[in-house]
Amino acid sequence: EADFAMYSAKQNGKNNVQFFTHELDSQMMRKSQMEQALKKALDEQQFSLHYQPQVNLANSKVIGYEALLRWQSPFGNVPPSEFIPIAEETGLIVPIGEWTLRQACRDSKEFCALGHAAEKISVNVSARQFKDPDFSEKVRAIFEQEQVDPGRFEIEITESVMLDIEQSARIICELKELGLRIAIDDFGAGYSSLNVVKNIEIDTLKIDKSLIDEVLINRRNLFILAAIIEVGKNLDARIVIEGIELEEQAELLQPFGILGQGYLFSRPLPPEKLDAFLNESEYVGASTPAKLLE
Ligand code: C2E
Ligand code: MG
Ligand code: MG
Ligand code: MG
Repeated sequence: EADFAMYSAKQNGKNNVQFFTHELDSQMMRKSQMEQALKKALDEQQFSLHYQPQVNLANSKVIGYEALLRWQSPFGNVPPSEFIPIAEETGLIVPIGEWTLRQACRDSKEFCALGHAAEKISVNVSARQFKDPDFSEKVRAIFEQEQVDPGRFEIEITESVMLDIEQSARIICELKELGLRIAIDDFGAGYSSLNVVKNIEIDTLKIDKSLIDEVLINRRNLFILAAIIEVGKNLDARIVIEGIELEEQAELLQPFGILGQGYLFSRPLPPEKLDAFLNESEYVGASTPAKLLE
């Protein structure tokens, strides 16, 4: 390939092709370095979870938190958008996903002890984890070992999980039998969103940030958003709008009686900062059901 690039570059009298292969080489290099580092990341305790509050837009109360994985790698902080796809490709997402769920269970006990027992904690799960036929059994074992009630947790999946619809439907049923709730993440971002909700009973629809992004500029987006919210309500699902950044967006959505998540309320925070936020924030309120505080 490099030879070809040299040859073409000489032929053309330009460096374009050569530049392209170099660029590709360094991208591949970074990816393979990252893959090597990712293999050690669990043992070296480089992962942590940050939590982003979910807020009831009608009364500004925090009802739950979404756990988001963070990797402090030898290259610095690598965003999930970069390392999750590599973890999925290599299968490393399976042990990483187990770590994530266990850690979320442990953190949830900490939050309870601090007086911040949320109505729910959401954990993201990749399609790759659903390929494991023992997935729900592993999940059950983690909740049992950690002595945490699965009823307080929600699993966030994307529509890509439905590529293998039979296997997924079975696992989703098993998870629901354990008491877990199911959310469809990034709803409206893909092509087959409606297919997902047709085929499984879901508890929450998380509407993708792209649908709220332009709602203030282009009112057509608001009609689409309102229609999706209507679909969700008819399916008895709760609605969460992702990526609310502006006060105007929150105001516009306030009458819909839905939940929101976004930088406007809070960025994802490490557990100790979440504690401080919940102690001080104007968005926090008494939405914690008493039975969860026992
Ligand atoms: P997601 O599950 O849809 O999570 C929401 C993402 O939007 C998070 O990015 C969050 O930080 C970001 N976000 C929240 N509010 C705003 C906002 O107002 N503006 C903007 N611009 N962004 C906002 P993050 O943490 O970088 O995660 C990206 C994606 O990586 C997640 O999207 C999820 O698909 C994946 N991911 C993160 N943690 C995990 C994990 O533990 N397991 C798996 N399988 N995937 C994960
Ligand atoms: Mg999510
Ligand atoms: Mg999302
Ligand atoms: Mg996502």
